[in-house]
Parts: sequence; C-alpha cells; structure tokens
Amino acid sequence: MTEEQVLRWIINAVADGWTIEPTYPHESADKAASLDKEGYHALTLARSELDVSISVWGSDELHVDVPETYDWDVMVRGTRICMYCGAVGNTVRIGFAGRCCPECREEHKAKVEFSGWTS
Ligand SMILES: [Zn+2]
Repeated sequence: MTEEQVLRWIINAVADGWTIEPTYPHESADKAASLDKEGYHALTLARSELDVSISVWGSDELHVDVPETYDWDVMVRGTRICMYCGAVGNTVRIGFAGRCCPECREEHKAKVEFSGWTS
C-alpha cells in the first residue's frame, strides 16, 4: 500500500460518511487519522512510504480485513465470515480476537479459551 492509496481510501471513506480526526494533536490527519462510522473504527498512517497502513475494527471490536480500495460492503461482510469454516452469517468472538460462527465456537472454544479465560 502507498501513501497515495491511503489518502484515496480516506477520501472515499469520508465521502461514505466516516467522521475523521487527527489521531495525534501534533500531526495532521493526512499523516495519522482516526475514522469512525456506525461502530466501525479505522486508524490510518501515511507518514512515509515505509510507514503506511490502514487498520479497521468492526462494530464487534474485532479486526476487519481492509481492501486496498475503499469498500464498505466488503468490510461489513468481513465481520460476518467465520475464521474456521468460512460460513457467512452471524459471528461471535472466540479467543483473544477471533471471529467465528456459533457452531465453530462450540467446537473450538476449549482449544483457544483456556482456564482463567473469561468471555
Ligand atoms: Zn464456522
């Protein structure tokens, strides 16, 4: 990803209704921005060609894969995909930051949520 791709992503996100503010008071939003829409949260960096990134968390507070070209529907769909079986539908948190369907949660939770874990 390039700085230009990050900036284009931000422009498209804001046009799609995301609010934006600088992440840090001493740095402009085109270098480091925090964006929000409908419970989704994004952090962007475009400081140099080696310091570029876009991270998005869904309304379930779990990480969402970000397409290089801004696409709201792809990100929303990403919050509905089971990490184990790939089913698309209702998902729940599993382990520290996983996302899966309720059926896979029953099957896998004992392996990733050890004694002392609270969910
Ligand atoms: Zn599943």
